[in-house]
Amino acid sequence: DYTPDLAAATAPTPTEKRVDETGVTASSGVLYHQLRKEPLNIVGGRGSYLLTDNGQEILDATSGAAVSCLGHSDERVHEAILEQLKKIPYCYSLYFTNSAAEKLSKLLVESTGGQMSRAFIVSSGTEAVEAAVKMSIQYFTELPVPQPQRVNIISRKSSYHGNTLGSLAVGHHAARRKIYEGILSKNMHHVAQCYPYRGMKDNETNEEYVARLAQELEDEFQRLGPDTVCAFFAETMTGATLGCVPPLPGYLKAMKAVCERHGALFVLDEVMSGMGRTGTLHAWEQEDVVPDLQTIAKGLGAGYAPIAGLLVNKHVVETLSKGTGSFVHSQTYQGHPIACAAAYRVQQIVQGDKLMENVRAMGEYLSQRLHERLDSHPHVGDIRGRGLFWAMEFVQDKETKEPYPPSKALSWTLHTTGLKPEYSISLMPGSGGIDGVNGDHIVLAPPYNTTREEIDLIVDRTVGVIKEVLG
Ligand code: PMP
Repeated sequence: DYTPDLAAATAPTPTEKRVDETGVTASSGVLYHQLRKEPLNIVGGRGSYLLTDNGQEILDATSGAAVSCLGHSDERVHEAILEQLKKIPYCYSLYFTNSAAEKLSKLLVESTGGQMSRAFIVSSGTEAVEAAVKMSIQYFTELPVPQPQRVNIISRKSSYHGNTLGSLAVGHHAARRKIYEGILSKNMHHVAQCYPYRGMKDNETNEEYVARLAQELEDEFQRLGPDTVCAFFAETMTGATLGCVPPLPGYLKAMKAVCERHGALFVLDEVMSGMGRTGTLHAWEQEDVVPDLQTIAKGLGAGYAPIAGLLVNKHVVETLSKGTGSFVHSQTYQGHPIACAAAYRVQQIVQGDKLMENVRAMGEYLSQRLHERLDSHPHVGDIRGRGLFWAMEFVQDKETKEPYPPSKALSWTLHTTGLKPEYSISLMPGSGGIDGVNGDHIVLAPPYNTTREEIDLIVDRTVGVIKEVLG
């Protein structure tokens, strides 16, 4: 049971003091900030709930940004952090290794059945993607016959892979790229996503659609020159941009086959969809493919520490081992001992508490309840997801699938409505409405240990919010 732990909470900060004159707080994104002028101040939390400085208990139906997969305030993780803090909080990974990083890397490598043989631990998803870009390039310079001409990367339209210049260029998030377009790398190219709700033609079968997408990738290789492409990047399950779009059966396999045909690397970004969110520790386990490089982040440390990783397939490791023997990349906080100790404990809990089983069971229950309550809603165009990662896409008209205009900022309105005391639920607003082409959506991503009662509450409150905003 959730009991607000006010004593443990930090002293409240007056909300208005944390907002600068433009209305953008230090942590807020670039979009729709006018809706976030007075963000609630979170001073505590337990389980699936967050606590504000005025005592409001908010059901965290999204685990933040699909991060807090154990819920808040798991004392087992607190203990692990404290233990590591007392041993050694930091050492520089360029000079030393540390037991916490070694233990975590071993656990991660083992979790892939030995397919991946190294883990490069950094502090954010963006950094992991940057590392993946650089490692792809380095790999081709270290082959027995080097291929330094492989400088192009192909990823997908409407994708998000991070916010630094390299990762922003890999992704294709219109609003986040807009003002930086002029300095983004011209070596990043984009093909269509596998997005059946809007991408599939009438009367097209799944197989035909997948074949068409693979052909588009093949054409892009041909356009660029197949031996100039070093990698294809995709999220195993598209998260933030289009909203929880699982790949069609065979899609990722078909895309990997194109990469293999041309000797390019196949990179899966599992920053959001990985580490258990979709019901298996690695989302690719459900797709019958193994990536050459894989990024992981959010569920890895469950928010107890900023941590992310790049998992490297054994064949890439072998090539680098025979080449320079190391990755030409390093960062000050790489393999941070406290972050690694926290993530190791989180992963032990995910395994020990059999949370993947719960993700699959509660995911099915969530899906069933959402369909029961919202299938007939005139503005809920699509309900989709996998594991505990579900989205609802909104349309003005179900027949034409006409999206809401970006000016309506629909998903942000749903988010702010959810925070009203009568609902007290945090819903993840989508970014799909930004370009006005794709629909806007909200995402649900509760913790892996969520209960049936919490799912019922999440569905009741979400339906209430949707009805208030859309009727
Ligand atoms: N890749 C994907 C697929 C993501 O969803 C995100 C974050 N939403 C990132 C990369 C960037 O991660 P971070 O915000 O930790 O830098």
